[in-house]
Amino acid sequence: MSSTDLSAKLFADASSVIPGGVNSPVRAFNSVGGTPRFITSAKGYWLTDADGNRYVDLVCSWGPMILGHAHPAVVEAVQRVVADGLSFGAPTPSESELAREIVDRVAPVERVRLVNSGTEATMSAIRLARGFTGRAKIVKFSGCYHGHSDALLADAGSGVATLGLPSSPGVTGAAAADTIVLPYNNVAAVEEIFDRFGAEIACVITEASPGNMGTVPPLPGFNAELRRITAAHGALLIIDEVMTGFRVSRSGWYGVDPVDADLFTFGKVMSGGLPAAAFGGTAEVMGKLAPLGPVYQAGTLSGNPVAMAAGLATLRAADADAYARLDANADRLAGLIGDALTEAGVAHQIPRAGNMFSVFFGGDPVTDFASAKATETWRFPAFFHALLDAGVYPPPSAYETWFVSTALDDDAFDRIAAALPGAARAAAEARAE
Ligand SMILES: *Cc1c(COP(=O)(O)O)cnc(C)c1O
Repeated sequence: MSSTDLSAKLFADASSVIPGGVNSPVRAFNSVGGTPRFITSAKGYWLTDADGNRYVDLVCSWGPMILGHAHPAVVEAVQRVVADGLSFGAPTPSESELAREIVDRVAPVERVRLVNSGTEATMSAIRLARGFTGRAKIVKFSGCYHGHSDALLADAGSGVATLGLPSSPGVTGAAAADTIVLPYNNVAAVEEIFDRFGAEIACVITEASPGNMGTVPPLPGFNAELRRITAAHGALLIIDEVMTGFRVSRSGWYGVDPVDADLFTFGKVMSGGLPAAAFGGTAEVMGKLAPLGPVYQAGTLSGNPVAMAAGLATLRAADADAYARLDANADRLAGLIGDALTEAGVAHQIPRAGNMFSVFFGGDPVTDFASAKATETWRFPAFFHALLDAGVYPPPSAYETWFVSTALDDDAFDRIAAALPGAARAAAEARAE
């Protein structure tokens, strides 16, 4: 293995000024161990770390970089607007261009409000749903992550799952009291809770296709059932497309499974790697937002022109060819991983949601967070580190989704194919503690 001395030194430095050395917990490699790589540059599918090691990137900044890193059209668009000023605190033309791009792609979305992160998008959508209905309770699903706002940080998968925190200290009982958490993919549980509390429930929020407990797609018809049940009780449906939006198709998961939610949330791909996100929905519901209506929501940097430029350039390059290429790359990658694990005799499954997938060890089908946690996650650290040492960068947790870009080419796949047999053997040899 090549040296990681500089990353180790940078991690020690970081840990003396930043809690745990990172600004988002999963970056610390807690669930796989070892030294987090400090990345100094990226281009196409390559990540380069501080020691000069290069990796084929299969995380893509947790989804946004569908075109690969430093894509020329995106870099050029950003450079062009930067020279005209960074932030004005006043409306700019590019905000409506990006909002229009979203409205054109997702049919039920008539109005869009731009924010700075997926967390803000879902938090604001929940507030709007409560303001619109005049009801307090919300329903979310175990293992679905919707960012780290208090009301949504109950049983939330992802970094929270990795850390083994059932919820988080600092979230008061009052903040979580109105959050009802149900098992994913379980229509009967939703029916039951609406039979009991139907008149008090403001909304159901669900990941369009969950990717934060690993990739666990909705069973056929699940999202449509949520639509039916919420509508019958006068509650809103919020479909969180922060991860899937504009990644799994031109219209996100809506393009795969067209369920007309009242509100949708977006992030990640829509801002091309800069901090911007959005929520949107019908003109009627969105009309309750300030300044039109009484539900307050705001942001000093919201609609930032540099983020708008990166998002617009990314979405404009994300045409039918790009999505076909993402799908083909995901097929090829999942095929290689599956073949290597089969060859090494490791029972596994690779659930897919369009071009998103994850790798679960063990044979029992995963349909919700409980079955995801019952997989042989203890095989993952060995698998992960063997790939990393061979110059391939997978997500550093068994509960995360793998992300491809359009930049992957034959050379990238050769490198991945060369790394996989050793990694599959490492997974086979791993022992539960
Ligand atoms: C990433 C993610 C979020 C949170 O977005 P941030 O920009 O990290 O705040 C919310 N929902 C889903 C489904 C996500 O994948």
